[in-house]
Amino acid sequence: MTHVLVLGAGPTGLTTAMLLAADGHRVTVVERNPDEPHGDAARLWEGWERRGVKQFRMLHMVMPRWRTEMEHELPEVIAELEALGGTRMNLIQFADLPAEAAGARPGDERFDSVAARRPVLEAAVARVASRTEGVTVLRGVHVTALVTASATQSATPRVGGVVTANGQVLHADLVVDASGRNSAVPQMLDAIGDRAPVVEREPNGFAYYSRYFRVPPNDRPSYRGWVLEHHEGLTVGKFACDNDIWAVGLYVSSRDRQLRALHDTDTWQRAVALFPDVAEWAAREPVGGVRAMSGTQGEYRRHVVEGRPVVTGFVAVGDAWATSNPARGAGLSTGVLHAQALRDTLREVGPADAEKLVLRFDELTEARLTPIYRSITSWSRHRLAEIDGDITGEPYETADPSWVIGKALDAAKLRDPDALRALADLAMLHLPAQEVLAAPGLTEKIMTLGANQPRYHAPGPSRAEVLAAIGASRD
Ligand SMILES: Cc1cc2nc3c(=O)[nH]c(=O)nc-3n(C[C@H](O)[C@H](O)[C@H](O)COP(=O)(O)OP(=O)(O)OC[C@H]3O[C@@H](n4cnc5c(N)ncnc54)[C@H](O)[C@@H]3O)c2cc1C
Repeated sequence: MTHVLVLGAGPTGLTTAMLLAADGHRVTVVERNPDEPHGDAARLWEGWERRGVKQFRMLHMVMPRWRTEMEHELPEVIAELEALGGTRMNLIQFADLPAEAAGARPGDERFDSVAARRPVLEAAVARVASRTEGVTVLRGVHVTALVTASATQSATPRVGGVVTANGQVLHADLVVDASGRNSAVPQMLDAIGDRAPVVEREPNGFAYYSRYFRVPPNDRPSYRGWVLEHHEGLTVGKFACDNDIWAVGLYVSSRDRQLRALHDTDTWQRAVALFPDVAEWAAREPVGGVRAMSGTQGEYRRHVVEGRPVVTGFVAVGDAWATSNPARGAGLSTGVLHAQALRDTLREVGPADAEKLVLRFDELTEARLTPIYRSITSWSRHRLAEIDGDITGEPYETADPSWVIGKALDAAKLRDPDALRALADLAMLHLPAQEVLAAPGLTEKIMTLGANQPRYHAPGPSRAEVLAAIGASRD
């Protein structure tokens, strides 16, 4: 039996722990924050402290891909989430989309999700983990260093455990970093390794302003348009959560100084009132003020360099491995996919074969996860450039086919059922672009329907109208 030590009891760390325990491994999860998730959704929302996870109360879209994988792997988590008030909904069937695009089709159940605010979702994961045989969760334990294993034949350092803030050493056959986007493990690795991992960084460039509302079913406005709609200078999203709570989010460039005013709740409300798809949702009973976050960094770390592991006995999963633009709502889903990749690796390679284990995990990560990271990063660069063009008045043009087809698809999605499913499969990470677009005639249809549409087709104001409504000057 392998003893695995997971750093961080976030969604990825706990999911990893449960998948490995199901295969008979013994897993200890150590979490810096001491608080347990007590009570119902309201108490979790108001009271559960997760210092260090800055996005904890930011709007989180729960993708159908997360629901699909969790329902398959850990159905108890989905049951727990629904018991806590998670909202089961189908992204296509729920919306009041035009008949020419919607209408039920076999296979649409892949767009089912169970929506919730992040603390509620995380509590469901944590509660099931806490009663999973083979998983021990130790909260209030802060890892400060890695220790190397004593007996090793190889020149590559092997991680053999961790040191906690109170000086305790916890040994393990495999240490898994699931400590999130601000993981301190890279510095800990510097202290024991002689080769640096591959690190790619780029400022994410977006700022997020969201607010929650209570929307009882008998008072629900029409849900028009897609989950995220792009407008001149900003993107607008509306999302189901749990217990009749909904959220509306505005995503802007963090370089856009005028729109920084959106952190003020009254200003945000004036702006949102201009967008017909969300205005009525944002006119319901608010739950707190605007929540803002910016300055997040995209980062990708690879611990195999030139075909050799930097260290063995160690892997990183979830945000501790890579982060991209949160507005694409992929982090929870990629966390599960990464946990599966580690589980699959351990099915093939035992921890005694330390080097092979790291290499195989790297291979699966590169095959299954890195393409998602790269495609989101590429999309974000284009979208930021487009917003920059909206601000300067010089429209963004590029010949990159991924962006050109993506724009046409976005314009075609509400005009054709195949285009809508193609967009949903791509956005919800069900299939990569090359597989979606391999359907005969689909790319041609998308280009015919969407290529000559206005840059922004969803109903809404121009950037100048938003600036005027919020009292911001144009320079
Ligand atoms: C603004 C914003 C909006 C987002 N929106 C979405 C969305 O809509 N949909 C979506 O799917 N994803 C979204 N994400 C991404 C999502 O939040 C992350 O992908 C997710 O939190 C990753 O989970 P994780 O378990 O890998 O890391 P985390 O959730 O960060 O958990 C890491 C855990 O490790 C613990 N830890 C850290 N250091 C130590 C240490 N030294 N010792 C012990 N414990 C430690 C932390 O306390 C924490 O509990 C968003 C992110 C941001 C920033």
